[in-house]
This record gives sequence, C-alpha cells and structure tokens, in this order.
Amino acid sequence: MTEIRTDWTRDEIAALFALPFTDLLFQAASVHRENHAAGEVQLCTLLSIKTGGCPEDCGYCSQSVHADSGVKATKLMDVRAVLQSAAQAKDNGSQRFCMGAAWRNPKDRDMPAIVEIVKGVRAMGLETCMTLGMLTPKQADMLGEAGLDYYNHNIDSSPEYYERVISTRTMDERLETLDHVRGAGINVCSGGIVGMGETREDRVGFIHTLATLERHPESVPVNALVPVKGTVLGDMLADTPMAKIDDIEFVRTVAAARITMPLSMVRLSAGRESMSEATQALCFTAGANSIFTGDKLLTAANAGDDADAAMLQRLGLKAMVAQEPMRACKAMEAAE
Ligand code: SF4
Repeated sequence: MTEIRTDWTRDEIAALFALPFTDLLFQAASVHRENHAAGEVQLCTLLSIKTGGCPEDCGYCSQSVHADSGVKATKLMDVRAVLQSAAQAKDNGSQRFCMGAAWRNPKDRDMPAIVEIVKGVRAMGLETCMTLGMLTPKQADMLGEAGLDYYNHNIDSSPEYYERVISTRTMDERLETLDHVRGAGINVCSGGIVGMGETREDRVGFIHTLATLERHPESVPVNALVPVKGTVLGDMLADTPMAKIDDIEFVRTVAAARITMPLSMVRLSAGRESMSEATQALCFTAGANSIFTGDKLLTAANAGDDADAAMLQRLGLKAMVAQEPMRACKAMEAAE
C-alpha cells in the first residue's frame, strides 16, 4: 500500500508536474494500481435539485445572479421527482447519485425536505452526495444523521487564484464547511476547476491545498472549465488561446491528484464532453477512476450514457459495482 502523506510541499508537487509526461503517467498509474482496481470506473449521476438564482459570484458559474447566462431560477424540486430521477440513474448503472442546489447555504426551512431526499435515495441502495453551499455544524449533523455519504464543496483553485474568481465567500469559509462535514462523519468530496486562466503554479497550489488537508477528500473532482457566455470567465476567455485547458496539462493535473491522494476517487467532471476519448483514456491511465454520466451536468451538456457506455467498452473498462458507501473513509482510517 502506498504511503499516505499530508505533508506534501508545493515544490514536490511542482516537481511532479514537471516530470517528463510518460514518467508522470507511469508513476500515477502505478499508484492507481496499488490502491484501486485499475480497470474499473465509478459512474455517478448529477442532478440539479434547485437551479439558478444563486447570490454567490463564482466567475465560472451560469447559475449565479451575477451572470447573464439566461439560466432561470427554480425552486427546490419536489422530493418525489428527485427520487424518480434517482431510480432512473440506478437503472442506468449509476453507483452514486449527486444532487446540487444553487444556494449560498441551505436555509433551515429547506432541511426537512433535504433530509427526506437523502433518506429516500439511500434506501434505493445508491450512494448519496449533496452540494448545497456552506453548512453550519448543525446542518452538517442533520445530513450526517440522515445518512448522507458525501458532501461536495470545492475549493476551486489555489488560494491565490481563488480570490480572482470569487469574492462573495473566502477559501477559509469553504475549508470551514469541509471541517463541519468531517465533524459530522460525512465523506468529503472536494476538487476544483482548471482552465480558468490560472497558471501552472496555481494548479500546483490547488492540488497542494487538497493534498495537505488533515485527511484527503475521499472524492476529488477535477473539472475543465466549460466557458459559458454571460459568465465572467466565459466572456473573458472566449476566443482566447486560454479558452481551453491544454489536454496534456489537464492529464498532468489528474496525475498529480492521483499521486498525492492515492486512496481518493479522482473524478473527471465538467469539461469531459469536449474532451477526446484519447484524452479521457490518458486521464484513466493517470488514475482518474470516476465520471459523471448522463446528458447534463447541472446546466452544462455532458457526454451522455450511450456515448460513455461505448467509450468504456472500447477502452475495456468496467463500471464499478456499488460498494459499501463509507469504504473510502475506512480505508483511509486503516492507512493512518
Ligand atoms: S458555483 Fe455554486 S455557489 Fe457559486 S454561483 Fe454557482 S451555484 Fe452559486
């Protein structure tokens, strides 16, 4: 078993990024094989249970009230409708059902419905994940008691670049929510976005922040920015050479995540739709072992179930079968 370290330095991570590409890929693939079934990919489905109208100003997000993206604000979905979508995701082979609400934070009056949703989805045998914005310790405890398996709260980028993308909440506030989630015994899902115009040093800082948390997130989503017209970043980067992250640099980021956080599930998230299968295959080789399936990722287009099934078949990869939800956490405890 690979040594689990939380004392990575930025220089060490920068040195990983700077390795000859094939050496980096070999190292990441070796760590992946030591800790995971390398031929298996976890399939997750993401549903927006409350879309748009978010008061936060994340520069990449079409759901922010500060964006002129045409996304219409909706109310929290009816519990029954969410459960129907979850059942469909299960039929399509998903192992984890992730639900996102475009909130700065949930209001206490929303919590009973959220708790009912968590219990209902979990009763279907699916892993549950929610992303609802910042949480108080009490709200985190309510979700933990309902049996929520994972809570997603991304750190987005390096601490330095973060401030250029979001002004309405700080990186420290995000880390505080992650602490509340840990305190409630819920697995942590936290990652970020590359291709927002940041430098490699920022990508190093992003991985460094996650890899030096007291305990690594059990899930690390790595997104490639999907530039949406009307968002600050979408408008800033449109038609510039920076509009799309270089594929090799994206794979390097995935590999660095895999090497520094050996037990985590590393998830290819947004941006996969515009990635070639060859790039995705390199990401799987570099240790990515989880994807979002379905036609939509919150408000952005995604590859779609059929395209993914065909790709996995072509690559000889299998969908991961459902495991005991708290497995990652226990594995990490065992490694400590
Ligand atoms: S990323 Fe989340 S918090 Fe930020 S604006 Fe979008 S919905 Fe709101």
